[in-house]
Amino acid sequence: MSYCKDCGREIDWMRTEEGRYIPVDPEPEFVIEGGGDEHFYTEEEGLLTGRLARPEEVQTREAKINTPLGFVPHWRTCRARRKGW
Ligand SMILES: [Zn+2]
Repeated sequence: MSYCKDCGREIDWMRTEEGRYIPVDPEPEFVIEGGGDEHFYTEEEGLLTGRLARPEEVQTREAKINTPLGFVPHWRTCRARRKGW
């Protein structure tokens, strides 16, 4: 586990298909695919494009099984967001 140099929060590193490493928040989030144009990273499926699910959208067990989980790039949540990221 490493820590963001800017805000001090825990981050993980994900390897992209292009072989780059990007910092992500350690807890994956439910993603509504196609619902937006934000990128989320997954271990098995690569890049997902969509938006964060709202809590009410993934309340049932079925919804939780069917909704993919993706890691949010840390620069989207960093409280000390660096310019140029
Ligand atoms: Zn940070």
